[in-house]
Parts: sequence; C-alpha cells; structure tokens
Amino acid sequence: MQSNPDINKAIRQHAEMAEFFSGGLMPKTETPAPQPLKETASRVASPETVKELEIIAEQTRQCGKCRLGSLRKNAVPGEGNPAAQIMFVGEGPGADEDAQGRPFVGRAGQLLDKIITACGLKRRDVWIGNIIKCRPPETRDPLPDEIIACLPYLQRQIELINPEIIVALGAHAARTLLDSPKPIGQLRGIFHEYQPGIGKKPIKLMATFHPAYLLRNYSDENRRKVWEDMKKVLAELGLSIPQGGKK
Ligand code: URA
Repeated sequence: MQSNPDINKAIRQHAEMAEFFSGGLMPKTETPAPQPLKETASRVASPETVKELEIIAEQTRQCGKCRLGSLRKNAVPGEGNPAAQIMFVGEGPGADEDAQGRPFVGRAGQLLDKIITACGLKRRDVWIGNIIKCRPPETRDPLPDEIIACLPYLQRQIELINPEIIVALGAHAARTLLDSPKPIGQLRGIFHEYQPGIGKKPIKLMATFHPAYLLRNYSDENRRKVWEDMKKVLAELGLSIPQGGKK
C-alpha cells in the first residue's frame, strides 16, 4: 500500500520537533531549568491593566470592523501574563484557534510551545497574540484593510503590557509592527525598535520565522536560526541560555 507522504512528513516533523527544541538543542534527559524571571516578579500588572485587557478581549469578541467578524467562530484576542517581559505576536488565528478562541493552539502552536520550553519559559510567563484577531477564510494572508482595522487592539495590548521585548513571528507580524516592506529573512536576527506612540519609549523587537513556516521548511538551518534569535532575546533580558545540543 502506498503510504501518504503528508502524514509521514507530519509524523517525522512531530518527532523531530520534540527532539530539536526539547532534546536536540538541550541535553536529552534534561528539561531546561526554569528561568528565574527576577524582573517579572517586580513587573506586576495592576488590576486596572488586567481589567482593561479583558475589556479589549471582549471588544474583539464583539468586533465587526471588517468582514472577518461575520466569518469567525471565535475571536482570538490573545492571552498570557499581563506583566510579561516577552510578547509573541503571530499573524492571525487558524482553524484550531478559531474553534477555541485561543492563540497558537494548533500545530504551529505546539512548535511555539516547544520553543518557549526550550527557552526555559512557560506559556504562562509570556503573552501570545496576533496581528489580526479573527481567522481569514481558509487561513489566507490578512488583507491590508483587515490589518488596519484590527491593529489598534494589539497596539493597546502592547501599551498595557509594556513588554521588554516583542518577538514578531513571521513576515506579517514583523512588517506590520515595524512598518517595513523588507522580507523576514532580512528582518530576523537583529533587534529593531517598535514605536508604541509619540513620546513613548520604543520597545525592542526581535523578528524570527513563524512556526508554521518552520514546519513547512523544516531544515536544521531554519530551526537553528530561530534558536539563535531566541538566544539573543534571552541574553537581552539577562536570562540564562539553556545549553547543549546543536550549536
Ligand atoms: N498562526 C498564527 O499566526 N497565529 C495563531 O494564533 C496560530 C497560528
């Protein structure tokens, strides 16, 4: 019987994913030690911040500013630590996220979880969201007018959480937040500045490949590039860099 190459590829990627971001990069038997996150302890979100983030989330659930509002099952406002040092920003919800109303819960999300774990962090330490809050039909790329309509939600979320670093996952997030037309290959790997508004302090932004791109282009080289980007983020925050595995 002919085996299905897509299923075989998915199974192989799943095994390799677990290996590379929790085994191949790290000593096999060890889970990276949890990060001390000293700064996080002093970064406590005020009750007003928490409340305002919930108001924004509710606004996205009621939103009808673009065509995607009438197509969604659930809006995906984003979630995580309201005092996070790191905010991960992706492109937009896919089918799994639309079904659950939570960001990065499908295959790309499983890979993002591995990356976060490889950093010695937990999902609850960081905040995870997207440029647009509703799934485009067939998970196509977001259109410019959809991004323009939705971006104020994310801008306000960034303002409230005020992270030390934004990690932009993929070209859409990086180009939108940096207002740059450059390809992700040129944007990734170096720190940029996200401008939260006139008179506000810029926030460091690291762009890296989107986990879904990594799944489609699953080479050691690409995975190593993402890990190099994340090591720069950890170093910038003064966090320890888990050792071992592929250099
Ligand atoms: N891809 C994204 O960009 N965001 C998600 O939430 C899931 C997949």
